Amino acid sequence: MNCKRYLPPEQIEILLGDLPKEIKKEKLGQSVNGLPIHLLQLGTGECKVLMWSQMHGNETTTTKALFNLIPWLVQHNQKALLDHFTFYIIPQLNPDGAKAYTRLNANKVDLNRDAIHLSQPESKVLCALFEGVNPDYALNLHGQRTIYGAGSIGEAATLSFLAPSADLERSVTPARAKAMTAIAAIHHALKEELPKGIGRYDDQFNPNCVGDSFTQAGTPTLLFEAGHFSNDYQREKAKEFILKSYKALLYHLLKGEEKFTPEHYFDIPENSKAYVDLIVSNLDLKDRGVLYKNQSVALQYEEELKEGGVIFKPTLKAYGKELSFKAHRYVTLSAEEKDTVLEFSIDKTIDSPKFNKLFSVKRLN
Ligand SMILES: [Zn+2]
Repeated sequence: MNCKRYLPPEQIEILLGDLPKEIKKEKLGQSVNGLPIHLLQLGTGECKVLMWSQMHGNETTTTKALFNLIPWLVQHNQKALLDHFTFYIIPQLNPDGAKAYTRLNANKVDLNRDAIHLSQPESKVLCALFEGVNPDYALNLHGQRTIYGAGSIGEAATLSFLAPSADLERSVTPARAKAMTAIAAIHHALKEELPKGIGRYDDQFNPNCVGDSFTQAGTPTLLFEAGHFSNDYQREKAKEFILKSYKALLYHLLKGEEKFTPEHYFDIPENSKAYVDLIVSNLDLKDRGVLYKNQSVALQYEEELKEGGVIFKPTLKAYGKELSFKAHRYVTLSAEEKDTVLEFSIDKTIDSPKFNKLFSVKRLN
C-alpha cells in the first residue's frame, strides 16, 4: 500500500524548492552515500533554536510537521516569533536511511547512539552545527512505534517527550530543568485535546544519545516523538499534534512563561509498552501441527518499503484464550472468516497471502 509515511530525499528536494524565498538554504554536508544534508535558517532573533529531524530515516512525521511550521512562520507573518528566534533546521539528517526507510544510516549505525565517538558523517555534521551555533534550545525530532501507551492507564501515546538526563543520577541540572518546564508547557497546551495520549520517556542516562550529550553540554534539549493516534497509520493526526506542540513551545519561550516547574514534567505519565496493533478473536489456528480453537491472536505491524510505499506486515506477537496486551483495534472474526485455519510458528513473519488479506492494515481503512 502506498503510504504517506515514506519521505525519501527526492521528496525533501521538492519540499525545499517549494519553501518561501526568504528562507536561507545551504548544504551542510553529506551522508555516507553522498546525499546532501540540508540546513534551513530563518528568523533574526537572539534565541537560537536548533532542530533536526529524521536522524532515524523511517521517522518522517516530525519532518512533515516542520514543512508545515516553516511556511506558517513566514507566510502568516509571525513577526514576533521571527524577531525573537533564529531557527537552524536540519529537516533530514539521515537521507540514506530515509531513502531505504530504515532507522539506521547506510553503515547500519544508529545515529542516536553515536554521540561519543561521532563515527558517522551525519553525526559529525550535527555536532559541528551544534558547536557552531551554540543553541539556546535543541529539539531532537523522532517518531515512535505503536507499542507505547501513555502511562499504564493511558491510551496510545500520540505524543511523547523527554528531557534527557545529563548524568547517571538523572539530576535536574539547570539545562534539564529548562527542557522539563518547556515540555510541561507543551503538555499543558495540548492536554485538553489529548487528555490520555501524551507520555514521557524513561530518563535513564545514556551519554551516547545525542540529547543526553547536548544536555550534558548545558543546552536544554527536548526529544519529541510522534506516535499513534486511533486508526491513523499515515500519522496525519500525529503530524497535526506535533505541529501544535512546536507552536506551543515557541509561544511558551516567546512569552517567557514561568508558571511551569520540573514537577509538572514529572506529572506527565511515563510510557509503557502496552500495545499491539490488532487483536483478532474467534480464530482457529494451527501451530506446528496442533489445532487450537477459538483463540485470540495479537498482531504487530512491521513496516516495510515496497514499490515506493510503506506496507504494514502483520506479525504474530502471541496467541491464547486470554492476552495481556491492549490493542489499537479489536476484530472478532465472522463465522465465514473463521473458516480460515492458519499455520505458523511463533515470532515468524506470517507469509500467507490469505492471512495478510485478512489482517493487513488495509482492513482498518
Ligand atoms: Zn527515533
